Amino acid sequence: MKSARSKGKRARSGLVIAMDGPAGVGKSTIGTMVAKELGFRFINTGEMYRALTWKALEEGIDPTDGDALTRLAKRLTWEFRTVGEGVVIRTHIDGKGVTTQIREERVSKNSSIVAGAGGVRRLLRDMQRKLGEDGSIVMEGRDITTNVFPDADFKVYLDASIEERAKRRTKQLRQQGKPADYDKILDAIIQRDRGDLQRKINPLTQAKDAIVIDSTKMTMVETAEEILKLIRSKRKAGIEGATR
Ligand code: C5P
Repeated sequence: MKSARSKGKRARSGLVIAMDGPAGVGKSTIGTMVAKELGFRFINTGEMYRALTWKALEEGIDPTDGDALTRLAKRLTWEFRTVGEGVVIRTHIDGKGVTTQIREERVSKNSSIVAGAGGVRRLLRDMQRKLGEDGSIVMEGRDITTNVFPDADFKVYLDASIEERAKRRTKQLRQQGKPADYDKILDAIIQRDRGDLQRKINPLTQAKDAIVIDSTKMTMVETAEEILKLIRSKRKAGIEGATR
């Protein structure tokens, strides 16, 4: 069994659980459940791309202007604070929580365009690495297993069919009392998948050493339980040997 050092890993005091997967697959809900159970923190890195997108739109910056976006990202004060039971980390920019604003439709539409800017990705990646440097964290996004923490202790690629993801999103919105049109939601997911899979820099891909879970026929609770079971068995077997 190789030691963390011999594999070039930084010694961390806690585990890093990295999760990637397409839009609407339930990464946040499942990741939060897993983090809660393990006593870890949880961060949805999509919120960081969304926060920057919202600010850019507010300031009238073109979402395709990578240089202007990078300058904006550098100018902002980024803060990450845990909320509620101290599990979920939320992004604040310039002292302001942006949880509601980042769910606006214009933000959802433009965030994968903003996420195509190399300067933005490098800056956000560095912030994400800093957040996870001590471990005891579940981090989800599109490039966490491949780019942000390629040496994560446990990697999951969460998948589900496009139709199932659209169905879940429709149900979730209706439960929140919001209008939801299945066909429009399906179309938006197709567009976002395309942007994330075809991006030149850090596209969404399955890391070779990630465990792929297709949750199409599973509930969120079943999926979280499956991940926890796998983490525990890897932990038992000695996580370093098991992640090779
Ligand atoms: O996770 P969510 O769908 O809210 O993320 C919003 C957008 O941010 C995604 O469509 C994706 O383009 C981008 N993103 C990314 N890399 C991450 C997380 C999100 O490019 N690690």
